[in-house]
Amino acid sequence: MAGIAEIIAVGSEMLTPDHLDTNSLFLTRKLNECGFEVRLKTIVGDTESDIAAVLRSALVRSDVIVFSGGLGPTEDDLTRQAVSTVLGRPLETDQAILDALRTRFAARGIRMAAINERQAQVIQGAEVLKNPRGTAPGMWIEDRARHVVLLPGPPRELMTMFESEALPRLEKMGGGRRLIRKSFRVIGMPESEVDAIVAPLYTAYPSIQTTILAAAGHIAIHLTRWVEPGGEIRDLEELTAAIQAKLGMAVFTSSEESLEEVVGKLLRASGRTLSVAESCTSGIIGMRITRVPGSSEYFLGGILCYSNELKMKLCGVAPELLERHGAVSAETAQALARGVRITTRSSIGLSMTGIAGPGGGTAEKPVGLVYAGVSDGSRTVHDSRNLPGDREAIRERAALFALALLREFLMSGP
Ligand code: ATP
Repeated sequence: MAGIAEIIAVGSEMLTPDHLDTNSLFLTRKLNECGFEVRLKTIVGDTESDIAAVLRSALVRSDVIVFSGGLGPTEDDLTRQAVSTVLGRPLETDQAILDALRTRFAARGIRMAAINERQAQVIQGAEVLKNPRGTAPGMWIEDRARHVVLLPGPPRELMTMFESEALPRLEKMGGGRRLIRKSFRVIGMPESEVDAIVAPLYTAYPSIQTTILAAAGHIAIHLTRWVEPGGEIRDLEELTAAIQAKLGMAVFTSSEESLEEVVGKLLRASGRTLSVAESCTSGIIGMRITRVPGSSEYFLGGILCYSNELKMKLCGVAPELLERHGAVSAETAQALARGVRITTRSSIGLSMTGIAGPGGGTAEKPVGLVYAGVSDGSRTVHDSRNLPGDREAIRERAALFALALLREFLMSGP
């Protein structure tokens, strides 16, 4: 085992509602890839005593401690100072860094303010990590069997420095151990149902960590497993196959694709074109489909038939049908799918009609009731759901529901 790592993100802005600590996501993935288990992440504001306190506790429990941020030249950049105090190693001015800083400022025709000299201060005994994208150098410090790594906060600077300076050192320490990931995305089942099906399978594999999460529009299953150098991952392959077999069609991807990407691939493979008639989603389905690069190969366009008038005029829905069954009905969904296909001369028409609310619901047709339809001229199908949530959530879910029906149609058809 390579060891335990932890990440300390420094910056008061990340304790406000406006800024997210995204650096730690990148760092976690990279640390895992070279064999370190990330047990803890902390976000700490620009207060020296707080940074020092977090470092003191980190030194007790973690082999590698990676700092992000607080290396700049201003008064609130305190990481350097806090680490120096806790490790009992003074800060020393590095003449080479100072000269490089002066050259950098001179090249831009700016006089370097004295405050910038702080960035040339290096913790005694630290190896300097070069920063090709900025002024703040990083540091790699070995201290009593612990490794403390100081990286700058701006994500571009941090990523470049990590890849070129920290990663090779960490890989050497990791000795070939790595974390393997596998994931599935499931549609059309609630999280509890997915768990009920999958739990009996994964409990038989204690060395594989399984998590089930409700994500936007799907349920994600993540399997992770540490592999020692030369080790086998047969159990991960077995569990992957067992989950796939049990969930079957409900799994729409095992390579983190979106539903619209999966549908796009199916359309492209079958050489068919698509058009959409959208009532309650009014453009969300088309927006999702065209988010995929290259979708012009199979997507012709769509009709936003929000009013009954346009349902009749542009999608050929008969007035009597609307009168008898209403705009939100299986019959209308089917008629829209057939109609838009004819109007646009596509191979397949996809439709969505429903009640997004908050008004307009009845006991018989409540808010959240949606119908999707698919037609290729010879075969027409529909399905309905009672979707939960507010207006926006219902519209988003309705678009995914329609795409899921289209996927099923494409997979089951001739
Ligand atoms: P410098 O002051 O030289 O730019 P620094 O190391 O002091 O570098 P900060 O001042 O802490 O870095 O942050 C600089 C920028 O980087 C800010 O825009 C900040 O929002 C962003 N940043 C800092 N930490 C993170 C983080 N953990 N995730 C994402 N962005 C971050």
